Amino acid sequence: MDKHKAYDIEFIRLGDGQHEFSFDIDGAFFKPFPQDRIEGGQLKCHVTMIKEEALLQFQFETEGSVNTMCDRCLNSIIYPIESFETLIVTLGSAHQEQDVDVIEIPATEHKINVAQYIYEYILTAMPMYVNCDGLENVVCDEQTLKYIVPEQKKKEDKTSGDPRWNALKNIDLDE
Ligand SMILES: [Zn+2]
Repeated sequence: MDKHKAYDIEFIRLGDGQHEFSFDIDGAFFKPFPQDRIEGGQLKCHVTMIKEEALLQFQFETEGSVNTMCDRCLNSIIYPIESFETLIVTLGSAHQEQDVDVIEIPATEHKINVAQYIYEYILTAMPMYVNCDGLENVVCDEQTLKYIVPEQKKKEDKTSGDPRWNALKNIDLDE
């Protein structure tokens, strides 16, 4: 992923101990990823890495907001994100996931690209269902809600299926 070269951490050149990194995350960061939930954003990610002999311990602190869509009224909204995640990287023989937050990479690697992790942590920090409630300067669009009739409400209650998809289907039918 060349576009994310700026998110390489070249640990080979660093001594044992603690190292800190700061990454800016904006619209360009999100471009190479699927745009279905996050259309853009403005965030900062602070990474603390502790390097040991055959192990890297990472802490990712991500804060800011993403541009997304209200799952109820389809408004474009700016949704706040706050995330704290840890990742253990062991230097072994192959690329493999050992646990949800433990991965192994070959000891011959010189660097690790953290863009994919940062992206996943941002996604994880978003609830399954986002809407205008509780956000500043925005309320659900009444005009759209008129079209998204009780059918949508039922689906929301059951929390089954993708509410955005259902909402779109309803709009098409009404037009
Ligand atoms: Zn809304």
